[in-house]
Amino acid sequence: MPFIIDQKICAACGSCVGNCPNRAIVMRGDRYVITEMCCDCGVCIEYCSTNAIKKGPTRAEFDNRKVASALREKLSLNRHIAAMKFADKAPDGVPDEKGPQFWCAICGDIFDGEGSPLFFRGVASSCGGSKNIGIGSAIATREDFETAINASVVGEGNLYASKELLAKNRNLFPRYSKVYGGVVIGSLEQVSRPDIILFPINGHQMSMVSTAYSFDTAELIMGYAGKSTCLMSITIPFVENKPIFTCGDHGGRTFMRLKDEEILVCFPYRLVPGLVKNLDRTVYAQK
Ligand code: SF4
Ligand code: SF4
Repeated sequence: MPFIIDQKICAACGSCVGNCPNRAIVMRGDRYVITEMCCDCGVCIEYCSTNAIKKGPTRAEFDNRKVASALREKLSLNRHIAAMKFADKAPDGVPDEKGPQFWCAICGDIFDGEGSPLFFRGVASSCGGSKNIGIGSAIATREDFETAINASVVGEGNLYASKELLAKNRNLFPRYSKVYGGVVIGSLEQVSRPDIILFPINGHQMSMVSTAYSFDTAELIMGYAGKSTCLMSITIPFVENKPIFTCGDHGGRTFMRLKDEEILVCFPYRLVPGLVKNLDRTVYAQK
């Protein structure tokens, strides 16, 4: 694993444990150890008063092409993996998506192996989902907002029975610490060090992923259902650094062109090297 704890020096104080953003430090017997979920960030070193934490013999694999290839091979994925990287301006060589467009439709193209990375801003978005992925949206007057709410969001046959329920539901999801200028969306092979990755997956593949993720840490992957795909798939991985799976909503499934047997899994990228390693360490890897 990337970082290690020198057991001769460790005082077993536990101060590093809660400060690891990847929850990669766990207790085994009476020792604290660092698992494969370590992403080499080095944060834990600052919290160890005995200098027991050191770089290990290997590094977490963050080469996006290698990671994409390993995931596709180990999970027998026949769809492509989408990657998203938040930024305030488009990186060199990445064109602005002019819109109007849906972020989920861009992901749908990527899952099908089409297109190159785009920089997607709120103003190019044709739905409120751009707010749900932390990039704001086109400026609308209060009147425009009320019209949209009444026409397609609130009321019989729409998404919520009332505005109060809309607000209550949105409060179930964490807030972004800032509004980003936009997000690069492309295939994992084409987006280096993304923030999150998403891909369609069937039940068997989801079982492989969740077993590999829980293997070292006993953490569960939570599933979210009941609202828009952007809220359910992006906010928690990006804001809380936790993977999720979701069946999405009607619009998200349509634009992502998900097949009936597919659900969507979304991982913070910093957890993916550990996931890839652990796919080889579980019952699913046995012949
Ligand atoms: S992920 Fe970062 S904080 Fe956690 S064990 Fe590895 S280096 Fe330390
Ligand atoms: S902070 Fe240092 S001494 Fe304390 S448990 Fe972690 S590695 Fe051990």
